[in-house]
Amino acid sequence: MRGLKTVVIEAKEEPGARIHTTGILVKEAADEVDTPPQFSRAIHGVRLYSPSLKHIDLSSRDYYFLTTDTAGLIRWFADEARRAGAEIICGRKFERFARTERGFDLPQFDLSTRYLVGADGARSTVAKLFNLGRNVKFLTGLEIEYEGLPKADPDLLHCFLDTRLARGYLAWVAPAPGFFQVGLATNDRVKPDLKAFLNHTESVFGYSAARVKERRSGLIPCGGPVSPFAARNVLLIGDAAGHVSPLTGGGIRLAFRYGRRAAQLIADHLERHGPPPEQVLARELPSFTKKLALRAVMDAGPPNWIYDLIIGTAPMRWFARQVYFHRRSGSPPAGPPSEPEP
Ligand SMILES: Cc1cc2nc3c(=O)[nH]c(=O)nc-3n(C[C@H](O)[C@H](O)[C@H](O)COP(=O)(O)OP(=O)(O)OC[C@H]3O[C@@H](n4cnc5c(N)ncnc54)[C@H](O)[C@@H]3O)c2cc1C
Repeated sequence: MRGLKTVVIEAKEEPGARIHTTGILVKEAADEVDTPPQFSRAIHGVRLYSPSLKHIDLSSRDYYFLTTDTAGLIRWFADEARRAGAEIICGRKFERFARTERGFDLPQFDLSTRYLVGADGARSTVAKLFNLGRNVKFLTGLEIEYEGLPKADPDLLHCFLDTRLARGYLAWVAPAPGFFQVGLATNDRVKPDLKAFLNHTESVFGYSAARVKERRSGLIPCGGPVSPFAARNVLLIGDAAGHVSPLTGGGIRLAFRYGRRAAQLIADHLERHGPPPEQVLARELPSFTKKLALRAVMDAGPPNWIYDLIIGTAPMRWFARQVYFHRRSGSPPAGPPSEPEP
């Protein structure tokens, strides 16, 4: 990384172990980092369901999502990082540090470093140890991976609005490369109940005849960026920094984008008299103001009859297109859209 020696400390036993995400890449994330095609599948359409399972289809010729074999993709990323010279230490948790004149000693690893990046997720140990801002507001996600769902349309991302089953968020059925992911997330006012969602949609997808591959759960920060996100020679990034869309819960694009930016800025700071990385990043990060306002609406949970009433209406179509297919802030300007920009 621009000549710096880099060590990645990962608590899990190996890269790609115990995945806690659906791992869908929005187009902007796919544009940020080129990944090998065998780990993903392009989906151009969304089927959006109301609580009574009425639905509308939305699509875009020039926009897509990549569903992914996330474990495979992470293993590939780890190989790429090693190829670029990074050392990856797995199966050990970072828990202690001592400040030194040049940076930090990490006595558990017998390492010294000039700069420390906390990319350690929603409940960041780095944030805790350095007294930085912490995530306090979360969605809780549950997911099951099925080997196949023959009744599901494999070309669509199926999303379900339902305040009873997925308060504050959505439920989903996502066709990934070679399997299906079925999940939901809720805010902290209700306990997520994936079984109830499976019962509700059994007749559409036929889960009971399908084989379960994996089950997972995880926390999604949804309160916006933490503050402060940095101190002298230490910086948070990704979920640790609250860099997750408060509306959609998507964090991978921001982790890709600002993770890479942070690395560039740290190298410039340490090697080329660049400014403190956090000063530059603070200017580049999105504010999330609009999305935080929409999060409050989602948290309140519109009654299910409203969703049933508005699902096929023009304003609902417009809003859904905004959420799924708009160009996300910070992405380069697109060419002329083939369908009207919502
Ligand atoms: C159910 C669910 C579905 C989601 N679906 C999507 C989606 O489809 N698209 C999308 O864009 N986003 C999605 N998200 C959000 C997305 O997964 C996160 O924003 C993204 O994973 C953040 O990456 P990260 O590297 O910051 O954190 P993480 O992916 O959480 O990685 C942090 C890593 O740090 C390690 N770690 C933690 N503490 C320590 C320690 N003390 N020492 C060493 N290692 C440590 C952990 O083991 C982990 O590997 C979803 C989240 C959930 C929970």
